[in-house]
Amino acid sequence: MQAFRLPVTKLAGIGVHTAQRLEKLGIHSILDLIFHLPHRYEDRTKIVPIGSLVIGEAALVCGQLEHLEVLTRGKKSLICRISDRTGGLSLRFFHYTASQYQALQGRSWVLAFAEVRQGYAELEMVHPDFSVFLRPELAMPETGLTPVYPLTEGLSQTTMRKAVKRALVWCQQHPDALIDWLPDSLMKPYGFPTLVKAVFTLHAHDAQQPSEHTLHPALKRLALEELLAHHLSLQAAKAATKVWQAPVLAGIDQHLAQFTAGLAFQLTQAQQRVIEDIRQDCRQASPMLRLVQGDVGSGKTIVAAYAALIAISSGYQVALMAPTELLAEQHHRNFSLWFAAFNVQVQLLTGQLKGKARQALLQQLHAGHTQLLIGTHALFQDTVQFHNLGLIVIDEQQRFGVQQRLALREKVHHEGMRPHQLIMTATPIPRTLAMLAYSDLDSSIIDELPPGRQPVVTSVISAERRQEVIDRIHHWVAKQRQAYWVCTLIEESDVLECQAAEQTAQLLTEMLTGIRIGLVHGRMKATEKEAIMLAFKTHELDLLVATTVIEVGVDVPNAGLMVIENPERLGLSQLHQLRGRVGRGEGDSYCVLMYQAPLSAIARERLGILRATQDGFVIAEKDLQLRGPGDVMGTRQTGLMQFKIANLERDTELIATLPELGSCLLAQHPEALTPLCERWLGHASRYAEV
Ligand code: ADP
Ligand code: MG
Repeated sequence: MQAFRLPVTKLAGIGVHTAQRLEKLGIHSILDLIFHLPHRYEDRTKIVPIGSLVIGEAALVCGQLEHLEVLTRGKKSLICRISDRTGGLSLRFFHYTASQYQALQGRSWVLAFAEVRQGYAELEMVHPDFSVFLRPELAMPETGLTPVYPLTEGLSQTTMRKAVKRALVWCQQHPDALIDWLPDSLMKPYGFPTLVKAVFTLHAHDAQQPSEHTLHPALKRLALEELLAHHLSLQAAKAATKVWQAPVLAGIDQHLAQFTAGLAFQLTQAQQRVIEDIRQDCRQASPMLRLVQGDVGSGKTIVAAYAALIAISSGYQVALMAPTELLAEQHHRNFSLWFAAFNVQVQLLTGQLKGKARQALLQQLHAGHTQLLIGTHALFQDTVQFHNLGLIVIDEQQRFGVQQRLALREKVHHEGMRPHQLIMTATPIPRTLAMLAYSDLDSSIIDELPPGRQPVVTSVISAERRQEVIDRIHHWVAKQRQAYWVCTLIEESDVLECQAAEQTAQLLTEMLTGIRIGLVHGRMKATEKEAIMLAFKTHELDLLVATTVIEVGVDVPNAGLMVIENPERLGLSQLHQLRGRVGRGEGDSYCVLMYQAPLSAIARERLGILRATQDGFVIAEKDLQLRGPGDVMGTRQTGLMQFKIANLERDTELIATLPELGSCLLAQHPEALTPLCERWLGHASRYAEV
């Protein structure tokens, strides 16, 4: 194992206990500790006279102990009064250990650091960091800024500081651990410090202090290296595919023409253009790697179907992967219909298919009888063996990570041949992100919606007006139209979200007598879900209460009203996706964002954007801008790539320089590729080893 991948327990003073806590922060190795940067700094370099303390600001004070008292009135607390020549201050502790109490009792000078607040009688500090001294001249301020690290339950700032300090000392003893792979000549235009200097500066290990932390060159230096590693690994993956062979898929023109002629509509110009790109790619003897971006409702499915027919009529199998079972089931229905005329064998494989039925399906597939296999990620388990897979289509790729996508490409091959890949994504990706996350793909954009689409009228209203919304559903259903009611909860709790949907469905059933209500959520059996969706599609149900499982793919044009509860909890792009379920038919359509008051200013602004525009690209850009670093709402959407240090929004200008920097580095130091990817991507770097 490389030295820096050593577990943190190799450092003196870090035991199993601390290691377990660190693990919760994603810190496993010594290197992880080194890249665990402070999110802010405290200035304990100057002792502030008590008389000039400012309420609300943190400060270091040094005072003589005057009085120590345990208060038992109200909440039990320990009060320690100190003073210097300029004034007095109380230190208040609600919990304290016996040794802390003793320490304060014995000595007479206290050095304390905390935020200052107004107490009953005078200024006070609550739970300050403190140390005690016998003589004032022994109480020294720090020589550098004090780093404050992101923590997790059970891990104290002191433990974290010590751990990082040990890791840094270890680094000094093992110069090989942080080899600088970016030579001075390439770093000069940026004016960034070296790697080691950057790391030490950010941990406030030397006198040079980061002032504006997030703009500091040292931080940018690390972000650049991390971004570069991601960029290079994708480039390497792309280069690797160049030497791969793929079957030439010419398709049967007559079938394709018959397919288009049989559709109920004309393909848009944009759809035709993208189809032409795909046809060109499939005729090559190297695998297609094409990303199709198209806003929600732009008609990507039909493009995927066309591509599938090219491969199938060329005698090859096709796999179509969707992120949810619901969507896989819908695709299964649609493709079976569309391809019935061509006698194509279409099968559905999800995680819920078990036992004999599954065995039979897998046999059919392996024997080559199945021509189109549709499913969730269950498609790419080891037990699934294709006969001659010619094309993989990934729908709603934004739901899968970059690594999953690459792994898939690596995995499937047949007699030295790799399948072509078509990747569909609905969430339009901000340009900078696309440059990085999809730099290994060719891309086509469906930049046109089918004709006749009416804009979705979006309103933002408080949940206090719930009754009005319910009345509205009554009127809507009376007009023979259908509606969605979407229940959202915090992402982590799937169970709670499903429970909320169940309760809502029940409540609405009581309030909306005479209206046929269905419920669908992620924890239902596949067959149940399928039955409900079918009933909704065929208008045997008027209102569908659902969790965010319907976010992707679901297509019922007559459903033109959507109520989204607690929209403030979701990312903008996700809301845009959800809203994309309505506005699919010819009639008018509405989306009601029903928030829980009070709404924060930023949430109001975000929802306002959704009301103002229906352009997915605009929404994606704004979403990225408005989302602060570490905002949990957004992680799933930009969850395309996970970064330790880089921040796509902040580091836009760095991303723009990656292609040139990357090729210069590879030309001058090809040996840097593997260690850089190893350092920043860990296991994922195997894609770069080509
Ligand atoms: P998405 O891009 O979100 O996957 P879909 O493929 O689900 O969009 O298409 C949305 C709806 O538009 C479907 O009902 C589909 O039948 C319809 N559609 C697709 N292409 C056209 C077109 N060229 N003209 C009219 N309707 C179309
Ligand atoms: Mg779709």
